[in-house]
Amino acid sequence: MAAEIRVFTCLKDNFGYLVHDTESGATASIDAPEAGPILTALAREGWTLTDILVTHHHADHIGGIAELKQATNCRVVAPYDQGAAIPLVDLRVRQGDVIKVGELLARVLETPGHTLDHIAYVFDDDKALFAADTLFSVGCGRVFEGTYPMMWESLLKLRVLPDDMRLYCGHEYTAANVKFALTVEPGNAALQARAAEVAHLRTAGLPTVPTLLGDEKQTNVFLRADEPSVAAGVRLKGAGAVEVFTELRERKNKS
Ligand SMILES: [Zn+2]
Repeated sequence: MAAEIRVFTCLKDNFGYLVHDTESGATASIDAPEAGPILTALAREGWTLTDILVTHHHADHIGGIAELKQATNCRVVAPYDQGAAIPLVDLRVRQGDVIKVGELLARVLETPGHTLDHIAYVFDDDKALFAADTLFSVGCGRVFEGTYPMMWESLLKLRVLPDDMRLYCGHEYTAANVKFALTVEPGNAALQARAAEVAHLRTAGLPTVPTLLGDEKQTNVFLRADEPSVAAGVRLKGAGAVEVFTELRERKNKS
């Protein structure tokens, strides 16, 4: 009764993910950056695509939908999308909805900020969080459509999930994120350990995901905007979390 998850690269630095229900044989792709690598991964495993779970409307997350739908006639699950950019949607989902991939259950969390339509999928039983461009390992997404307070609220929604939840994010940005985080919290021992681990993984050509949410809570400065050490690290001692988060995000934009 467990999910099997495969991680691979799409486009330049997007992660492709397949979530397979061993019981029913159902398989979901989290987003569809491009069809080729997803079809290759499916063929390698001998799995049939039944669902695409879309997190938000950006082109590097939906570009492969049409070709995958044509090839497999899979179901396309997507957030309510005011811009109607997401093609061929079969099911629109919002906060609190639970969808099935075979017998696997995925809970929908609305996490606006990066885009207004952004959602995350939480497989509680399988301890897997697909956070796309809201929460990266040791980083977070740029705030394109929402506001900084909105993005901070979205991060808090993810931070309350259990420490043993595995984070699968949208992009391989971890090395750059670690470099930035160390400018804010140079004395954070957990972050220093993560920096060494990430350097080792990247040298070996391996992905830096999944990570444990418990480790992110110790190392991800964006999730730690309400920690005094992070406020001090951006010269905002005593400031509120939203102010600190805003400063972090703007500094990262310029880094
Ligand atoms: Zn995006």
